[in-house]
Amino acid sequence: MTAAPRLEINLAKIGHNARTLVERLGKRGISVTGVTKAALGSVEIAATLLEAGVKRLGDSRLENIEAMQLAQLPAALTLIRSPMLSQVKRVVKHADVSCNTEIEVIKKLSLAAQRAGCIHGVILMVELGDLREGIMPDDLMDCVRETLTLPNIQFKGIGTNLACRSGVAPDGKNMALLSELADLIETTFDLKVEIVSGGNSANLEWALSGAGIGRINDLRLGEAILLGCETLHRQPLDGLHTDAIRLIAEVIEAKIKPTLPSGQIAQNAFGETAVVADRGQVTQAILAIGRQDIDPDGLQAPPGIDVMGASSDHLILESDRFELAVGAEVVFQLNYSALVRAMTSPFVSKVIATASGR
Ligand SMILES: *Cc1c(COP(=O)(O)O)cnc(C)c1O
Repeated sequence: MTAAPRLEINLAKIGHNARTLVERLGKRGISVTGVTKAALGSVEIAATLLEAGVKRLGDSRLENIEAMQLAQLPAALTLIRSPMLSQVKRVVKHADVSCNTEIEVIKKLSLAAQRAGCIHGVILMVELGDLREGIMPDDLMDCVRETLTLPNIQFKGIGTNLACRSGVAPDGKNMALLSELADLIETTFDLKVEIVSGGNSANLEWALSGAGIGRINDLRLGEAILLGCETLHRQPLDGLHTDAIRLIAEVIEAKIKPTLPSGQIAQNAFGETAVVADRGQVTQAILAIGRQDIDPDGLQAPPGIDVMGASSDHLILESDRFELAVGAEVVFQLNYSALVRAMTSPFVSKVIATASGR
């Protein structure tokens, strides 16, 4: 028997998704940085993305970058989260490029790169309204000027990240501003801005809409490749697989139980107070997986099965049509939140699906 719980990873489907997006964006003059953070820097997934034509690899965690560097993957590795000051030495050693917003950090990267005898690439991230990371547009030129003076630092370009903290959608206006900033840097400093990275999976709608893309020549894509959906409305993307990664968990209890708890109701394990309607007796199953391993709200169960709740180690299902016997396995599709947690949980095995891979 295969280990449970497990993530079944279908590399052929991931490759198809990546190739499709690389081709569609390629027609618009945009290359793809494949983002591996939700794959825990999986070398198999990273290699699949490269075979599918992504130009670079990006990850937010240095540990994942280190794993990919160790595997000697033939691609530039970009740290897409601002480096910690405490990690600059490791950053220049393992990442070719990092995304930055603080000149203080870039100065330290410069010192570390001088000591290590290497050149480190820097992308400056610009704040365009989502209020996560980014240099305010008015401060960008000063930051570029200082960056250009730093030894062993190579200014690679600019980027922005939207739709993560505040859900600000990429549109003609904020993308045009990024393009203008790229032009302004080129005329002011007489150089070529190599990378203009427009954003993440939330940019696909804009990038493929037929609107003028201006100077944008890169998108950093993770979720769209792994889960086959865009991320503004979480709609499946045409022609992409939404089941490239599936979660399988095992039933450890199956009983008919009442829907109403009995006894005095206080807080549950997570400080919530349950409000439950009486629906009589139901068929309830418990799976051996919990909030430590997944986000229960991010699981999509097969038809006829509902996810009712979860504690740290138990996932509770109800089913009217299915007989979920002890030992049975249930297959779920996952959203990004559930995927990230499952990938990160040491209690969930990661299994590469076979070529026949249903
Ligand atoms: C996570 C992340 C991405 C990738 O986002 P997806 O929605 O998975 O495509 C891109 N850029 C940055 C800075 C990120 O943190």
